[in-house]
Amino acid sequence: MPYEKLLLENKAWAKEMLADDPNYFNRLAHLQTPEFLWIGCSDSRVPADKITGTQPGEIFVHRNIANLVIHTDVNLLSVLDYAVNHLKVNHVIVCGHYGCGGIKAAMTNHDYKYVLNMWLRNIKDVYSLYKDELNAIENDEQKTDRLVELNVKEQVMRLAKTSIIQRAWKNENRPVLHGWVYGLKDGIIKSIFDLQPGDEMDPIYKYDDL
Ligand SMILES: [Zn+2]
Repeated sequence: MPYEKLLLENKAWAKEMLADDPNYFNRLAHLQTPEFLWIGCSDSRVPADKITGTQPGEIFVHRNIANLVIHTDVNLLSVLDYAVNHLKVNHVIVCGHYGCGGIKAAMTNHDYKYVLNMWLRNIKDVYSLYKDELNAIENDEQKTDRLVELNVKEQVMRLAKTSIIQRAWKNENRPVLHGWVYGLKDGIIKSIFDLQPGDEMDPIYKYDDL
Protein backbone atom coordinates (compact mmCIF):
# COMPACT_ATOMS: atom_id res chain seq x y z
CA MET A 1 0.00 0.00 0.00
CA PRO A 2 1.32 3.50 -0.85
CA TYR A 3 1.01 4.76 2.72
CA GLU A 4 3.09 1.86 4.04
CA LYS A 5 6.01 3.21 2.05
CA LEU A 6 5.86 6.38 4.19
CA LEU A 7 6.16 4.38 7.41
CA LEU A 8 9.06 2.34 6.03
CA GLU A 9 10.82 5.48 4.81
CA ASN A 10 10.34 6.98 8.25
CA LYS A 11 12.05 4.03 9.95
CA ALA A 12 14.94 4.25 7.51
CA TRP A 13 15.26 8.01 8.09
CA ALA A 14 15.25 7.66 11.90
CA LYS A 15 17.92 4.98 11.65
CA GLU A 16 20.07 7.15 9.39
CA MET A 17 19.81 10.15 11.73
CA LEU A 18 20.83 8.01 14.72
CA ALA A 19 23.76 6.55 12.79
CA ASP A 20 25.00 10.10 12.11
CA ASP A 21 24.39 11.36 15.65
CA PRO A 22 23.26 8.97 18.43
CA ASN A 23 22.07 11.95 20.50
CA TYR A 24 20.02 13.57 17.70
CA PHE A 25 16.47 12.86 18.92
CA ASN A 26 17.35 13.29 22.59
CA ARG A 27 18.63 16.77 21.92
CA LEU A 28 15.72 17.80 19.65
CA ALA A 29 13.11 16.48 22.06
CA HIS A 30 14.23 19.00 24.67
CA LEU A 31 14.85 21.99 22.46
CA GLN A 32 12.82 24.07 20.02
CA THR A 33 14.34 27.47 19.30
CA PRO A 34 13.52 28.28 15.68
CA GLU A 35 14.61 31.64 14.33
CA PHE A 36 11.92 31.71 11.63
CA LEU A 37 8.17 31.44 11.22
CA TRP A 38 7.22 30.32 7.70
CA ILE A 39 3.75 31.01 6.35
CA GLY A 40 3.59 29.15 3.06
CA CYS A 41 1.26 27.49 0.58
CA SER A 42 0.00 23.95 1.23
CA ASP A 43 1.19 22.97 -2.27
CA SER A 44 3.13 19.69 -2.01
CA ARG A 45 5.88 21.06 -4.26
CA VAL A 46 6.89 23.80 -1.80
CA PRO A 47 8.26 22.10 1.35
CA ALA A 48 9.58 24.87 3.61
CA ASP A 49 12.49 22.96 5.12
CA LYS A 50 13.74 21.31 1.94
CA ILE A 51 13.88 24.47 -0.19
CA THR A 52 15.60 26.47 2.57
CA GLY A 53 17.96 23.73 3.73
CA THR A 54 16.69 24.05 7.30
CA GLN A 55 16.81 21.17 9.78
CA PRO A 56 14.15 20.02 12.27
CA GLY A 57 14.03 22.62 15.06
CA GLU A 58 15.03 25.54 12.84
CA ILE A 59 11.78 26.66 11.21
CA PHE A 60 8.23 26.90 12.60
CA VAL A 61 5.71 26.30 9.84
CA HIS A 62 2.13 27.23 9.00
CA ARG A 63 0.72 26.40 5.58
CA ASN A 64 -2.61 27.04 3.92
CA ILE A 65 -3.93 27.46 0.37
CA ALA A 66 -2.15 30.47 -1.21
CA ASN A 67 -0.38 31.47 2.05
CA LEU A 68 -3.09 33.82 3.29
CA VAL A 69 -3.06 35.90 6.46
CA ILE A 70 -6.69 36.33 7.47
CA HIS A 71 -7.37 38.34 10.60
CA THR A 72 -10.17 36.03 11.75
CA ASP A 73 -8.20 32.81 11.17
CA VAL A 74 -7.71 31.46 14.70
CA ASN A 75 -5.33 28.78 13.43
CA LEU A 76 -2.95 31.24 11.79
CA LEU A 77 -3.20 33.77 14.64
CA SER A 78 -2.41 31.09 17.23
CA VAL A 79 0.66 30.05 15.27
CA LEU A 80 1.73 33.70 14.92
CA ASP A 81 1.16 34.43 18.62
CA TYR A 82 3.07 31.35 19.73
CA ALA A 83 5.96 31.93 17.31
CA VAL A 84 6.34 35.63 18.15
CA ASN A 85 5.62 35.65 21.88
CA HIS A 86 6.88 32.26 23.05
CA LEU A 87 9.41 31.04 20.51
CA LYS A 88 10.59 34.66 20.00
CA VAL A 89 11.28 34.29 16.28
CA ASN A 90 13.17 37.16 14.69
CA HIS A 91 11.81 36.66 11.19
CA VAL A 92 8.35 35.92 9.80
CA ILE A 93 8.36 34.83 6.17
CA VAL A 94 5.31 34.74 3.91
CA CYS A 95 6.32 32.61 0.94
CA GLY A 96 4.11 32.23 -2.13
CA HIS A 97 5.04 30.43 -5.33
CA TYR A 98 4.67 31.08 -9.04
CA GLY A 99 2.02 28.91 -10.70
CA CYS A 100 -0.01 28.74 -7.45
CA GLY A 101 -3.26 26.78 -8.01
CA GLY A 102 -5.10 28.84 -5.39
CA ILE A 103 -4.20 32.09 -7.13
CA LYS A 104 -5.16 30.65 -10.53
CA ALA A 105 -8.51 29.44 -9.19
CA ALA A 106 -9.28 32.85 -7.68
CA MET A 107 -8.67 34.49 -11.07
CA THR A 108 -11.46 32.46 -12.69
CA ASN A 109 -15.19 33.07 -12.34
CA HIS A 110 -15.82 29.44 -11.51
CA ASP A 111 -18.02 28.46 -8.56
CA TYR A 112 -15.82 26.27 -6.32
CA LYS A 113 -18.69 25.86 -3.85
CA TYR A 114 -19.09 27.33 -0.42
CA VAL A 115 -15.89 26.79 1.56
CA LEU A 116 -13.40 27.27 -1.27
CA ASN A 117 -15.30 30.28 -2.60
CA MET A 118 -15.01 31.82 0.87
CA TRP A 119 -11.25 31.20 1.01
CA LEU A 120 -10.54 32.30 -2.58
CA ARG A 121 -12.56 35.46 -2.04
CA ASN A 122 -9.59 36.81 -0.07
CA ILE A 123 -7.41 36.50 -3.17
CA LYS A 124 -10.07 38.11 -5.35
CA ASP A 125 -9.98 41.05 -2.92
CA VAL A 126 -6.22 41.38 -3.52
CA TYR A 127 -6.85 41.27 -7.29
CA SER A 128 -9.45 43.98 -6.94
CA LEU A 129 -7.01 46.21 -5.00
CA TYR A 130 -4.46 46.01 -7.82
CA LYS A 131 -6.83 45.54 -10.77
CA ASP A 132 -5.50 48.47 -12.81
CA GLU A 133 -1.98 47.03 -12.81
CA LEU A 134 -3.16 43.44 -13.32
CA ASN A 135 -5.68 44.14 -16.09
CA ALA A 136 -2.92 45.87 -18.07
CA ILE A 137 -0.94 42.58 -18.27
CA GLU A 138 -2.02 40.63 -21.36
CA ASN A 139 -0.09 37.39 -20.88
CA ASP A 140 -2.07 35.09 -18.56
CA GLU A 141 0.95 33.46 -16.94
CA GLN A 142 2.58 36.83 -16.27
CA LYS A 143 -0.66 38.14 -14.82
CA THR A 144 -0.93 35.14 -12.47
CA ASP A 145 2.70 35.50 -11.41
CA ARG A 146 2.24 39.20 -10.67
CA LEU A 147 -0.83 38.43 -8.53
CA VAL A 148 1.26 35.82 -6.68
CA GLU A 149 3.76 38.60 -5.85
CA LEU A 150 1.11 41.18 -4.94
CA ASN A 151 -0.68 38.61 -2.79
CA VAL A 152 2.51 37.98 -0.81
CA LYS A 153 3.02 41.73 -0.34
CA GLU A 154 -0.57 42.12 0.85
CA GLN A 155 -0.26 39.26 3.35
CA VAL A 156 2.93 40.79 4.80
CA MET A 157 1.07 44.08 5.26
CA ARG A 158 -1.76 42.21 6.94
CA LEU A 159 0.72 40.73 9.43
CA ALA A 160 1.84 44.26 10.30
CA LYS A 161 -1.78 45.19 11.02
CA THR A 162 -2.03 42.65 13.87
CA SER A 163 -1.51 43.76 17.47
CA ILE A 164 0.71 40.66 17.87
CA ILE A 165 3.29 42.08 15.47
CA GLN A 166 2.87 45.70 16.52
CA ARG A 167 3.42 44.84 20.21
CA ALA A 168 6.56 42.84 19.42
CA TRP A 169 7.84 45.68 17.22
CA LYS A 170 7.27 48.21 20.03
CA ASN A 171 8.67 46.16 22.92
CA GLU A 172 11.40 44.06 21.32
CA ASN A 173 12.12 45.61 17.93
CA ARG A 174 11.42 42.34 16.13
CA PRO A 175 10.43 40.41 14.00
CA VAL A 176 11.32 41.47 10.47
CA LEU A 177 8.55 40.53 8.03
CA HIS A 178 9.55 39.08 4.67
CA GLY A 179 7.55 38.46 1.49
CA TRP A 180 9.10 35.86 -0.81
CA VAL A 181 8.06 33.96 -3.92
CA TYR A 182 9.41 30.53 -4.83
CA GLY A 183 9.84 29.47 -8.46
CA LEU A 184 8.58 25.95 -9.20
CA LYS A 185 10.52 26.03 -12.48
CA ASP A 186 13.97 26.91 -11.13
CA GLY A 187 13.74 26.27 -7.37
CA ILE A 188 14.85 29.83 -6.61
CA ILE A 189 13.24 32.07 -3.98
CA LYS A 190 12.84 35.73 -4.92
CA SER A 191 12.53 38.44 -2.28
CA ILE A 192 9.55 40.70 -3.04
CA PHE A 193 8.78 42.92 -0.06
CA ASP A 194 10.05 43.43 3.50
CA LEU A 195 8.76 45.31 6.51
CA GLN A 196 11.10 46.25 9.36
CA PRO A 197 9.94 46.94 12.93
CA GLY A 198 8.41 50.40 13.06
CA ASP A 199 7.95 50.82 9.30
CA GLU A 200 5.15 53.16 8.28
CA MET A 201 1.64 51.84 7.70
CA ASP A 202 -1.84 53.19 7.09
CA PRO A 203 -2.52 55.01 10.43
CA ILE A 204 -6.00 53.55 10.88
CA TYR A 205 -4.44 50.11 11.49
CA LYS A 206 -1.92 51.34 14.06
CA TYR A 207 -2.61 50.70 17.77
CA ASP A 208 -1.36 53.59 19.92
CA ASP A 209 -2.05 52.08 23.37
CA LEU A 210 -0.27 48.73 23.18
ZN1 LIG B 1 -0.01 27.45 -3.99
